[in-house]
Amino acid sequence: MLTQTQPGFFSLGIRQKVGLVLVSILLISLGLSGWHSLRQQEARVLEETKIRGNDLSRFTAQSVAYSIVGYDYHSIQLLLDELVKSQDINYAKVTNNKGNVMAKAGHLSTQNVTWTYFEQDVFFDETVIGKLSLQLDNSKIIARFTEQRNELIQREILLILLMAISIYFALSYFIIRPICNTSDKLTESARNGTLEDVTLDYQKNDELGYLFYHFNAMKEQLNEASNLLKSKVELANKEVQRKNRDLQKQSNELQAMNDKLKQLAITDPLTELFNRRHFDILLRKEISYAQRHQEKVSLIIFDLDHFKQINDKYGHSVGDATLFSVAQTVESKTRDSDICCRIGGEEFAIICRETDMHEIRIIAENLRVKLETTPITSGQHEFSITASFGMMTFSYLSVQSISSDDIYHCADMAMYHSKQQGRNRVSHYADITVDIKRPAARQL
Ligand code: GH3
Ligand code: MG
Ligand code: MG
Repeated sequence: MLTQTQPGFFSLGIRQKVGLVLVSILLISLGLSGWHSLRQQEARVLEETKIRGNDLSRFTAQSVAYSIVGYDYHSIQLLLDELVKSQDINYAKVTNNKGNVMAKAGHLSTQNVTWTYFEQDVFFDETVIGKLSLQLDNSKIIARFTEQRNELIQREILLILLMAISIYFALSYFIIRPICNTSDKLTESARNGTLEDVTLDYQKNDELGYLFYHFNAMKEQLNEASNLLKSKVELANKEVQRKNRDLQKQSNELQAMNDKLKQLAITDPLTELFNRRHFDILLRKEISYAQRHQEKVSLIIFDLDHFKQINDKYGHSVGDATLFSVAQTVESKTRDSDICCRIGGEEFAIICRETDMHEIRIIAENLRVKLETTPITSGQHEFSITASFGMMTFSYLSVQSISSDDIYHCADMAMYHSKQQGRNRVSHYADITVDIKRPAARQL
């Protein structure tokens, strides 16, 4: 996320920075300009003084040449007195070519720095006949140049100040103001979370105008791309949700089909009881459960008597209805904990948990009576049916190790025994005393 640094106590805005830069430029310019004019002034004073002193010395030397030749001391003295009366000349002296002083006026000063000393040879017919010495006062010249320099500096200060102020306001108006306005606008929009709605309205035909124009164009493109992305994400989300719903539906359907298949795999389609394959599994489980929990479990197998005759007499569909009716009777007459199965064409099995030999006899007998006394009605046909029952009980106390297959064969033998004994009866394996033979059964 974009974060903005808060301005500290010493942090400066763009205006202050520009102001500082301009003041610095002004000071540096002033310093350089002052130093330069001072140097120039010094050079000018020296030059001026030299020219003036030389001119004056030459002119005075020419004036006194005839007086020296004629030894006119009085005229020389008058001239020198006139010279020192002027404010610029402090001291004047004329010597002959032997170095003797012919006349002098004023006092030679050695302390004042504004005074300059000149010496000029006096010629007559190109022969040096004496020497003129002058001491000039430069203070007036210096004062005039100082005045000129001050004027110059004042003018420069004014000019630079005017330029600095103009530049500052021009920069402020043309560059800083739009930047600050834009910055304020962006800051405000960022604070309100409406950056995507912000438009920079600086329309001028300059670099800032281009910058803001491109910013607006870029923002528009970003907004468009963002909206496109949002709509695509929304579409993708909807598609994903739809696919998820479809998948969930398919998964539920698959689960239901799976459950149904599982149910079908263990169910007999005609009677809706457990089928033979599942009966084998359940019987194994119940035997091992009884072994582990030191319980008893009993198995009933019964086979309908002369069922073939029903098929023959009333037809196969009536036979089917009979099988369904028998299954209903079995379900209604057994306990919830009993497991009812159809294990063959007209053969049924009931696994009874925690049921001993005595109890299983009663259950089987009751069921036999119930089947015998419950008429079967199919269409206009009504008839009764009987069944032969065989039973076997597993006890954890049994000395012999006995498997689920053994239990089944024992019950089967008992059922076969009932058939042999005249049908429509119940027999427990324990009741069998005679040796019976049945093809699938094995002797224990
Ligand atoms: P028993 O008393 O000795 O058992 O005589 P039974 O006629 O019942 O015995 P058998 O084994 O000779 O006949 C069994 C018949 O059961 C033969 C077959 O047609 C019939 N059956 C087997 N499964 C079905 C079925 O799903 N539907 C119908 N309608 N009949 C079946
Ligand atoms: Mg039968
Ligand atoms: Mg049979």
